[in-house]
Amino acid sequence: MISINKAHYPVTVLGPGRRIGLWVQGCSIGCKGCISQDTWADDPERLMPIAELLAWCRDVAAGGLDGVTISGGEPFDQPEALAALLQGLRAWRRQAGLDFDLLCYSGYPLATLRKRQAPLLALLDALIPEPFVEARPASEPWRGSANQPLVLLSARGRRRYAAYLRQPLALGPKRIQAVVDGDRVWYVGIPARGDMERLRALCAVRGLDFSEVSWRQ
Ligand code: SF4
Repeated sequence: MISINKAHYPVTVLGPGRRIGLWVQGCSIGCKGCISQDTWADDPERLMPIAELLAWCRDVAAGGLDGVTISGGEPFDQPEALAALLQGLRAWRRQAGLDFDLLCYSGYPLATLRKRQAPLLALLDALIPEPFVEARPASEPWRGSANQPLVLLSARGRRRYAAYLRQPLALGPKRIQAVVDGDRVWYVGIPARGDMERLRALCAVRGLDFSEVSWRQ
């Protein structure tokens, strides 16, 4: 079983190409300024069988995908579940002859992950570790703050991500995706500092109030 906050396809703003995005539920780190505070609490209601999640992935991306991005929440707070999920994704990739990459975010320091979670790192192609630091805006793609490196962990990861190691974020607005899900709207991607509050203010003057937001409690 794995605790999942949400899943979406296609995600185009968290890694190269068209990707499956999986956000786990539960984070014990609590970075100041985190925009995903709805993912912090443990929630037994959000547990789902990993086989079911893998079946959803195979189904939703039957037309092809470039990668899977796992974020949260803190994926490494569920190490056994994360291992089973990554092994299942790798088996699907191998058996179907696909070439998608596996990218994972973590708020733990890279040194801690290398020391305590080396077997999990060996299942990934790329990793963006380190806690979010509100005072250090990022200047590179897919990063929340400038202290977060892009770490390449496999030959596939090096082949696919090498160009992005040297590519600064394009000047101009950051891209986020909006997903309408029943009476809920959620956003995919990493907004610039203050963007979400600006969005809330713009919507408010047009008569649209947000009842709950994930970027503050
Ligand atoms: S940024 Fe990530 S690691 Fe930090 S509190 Fe938010 S979900 Fe947790």
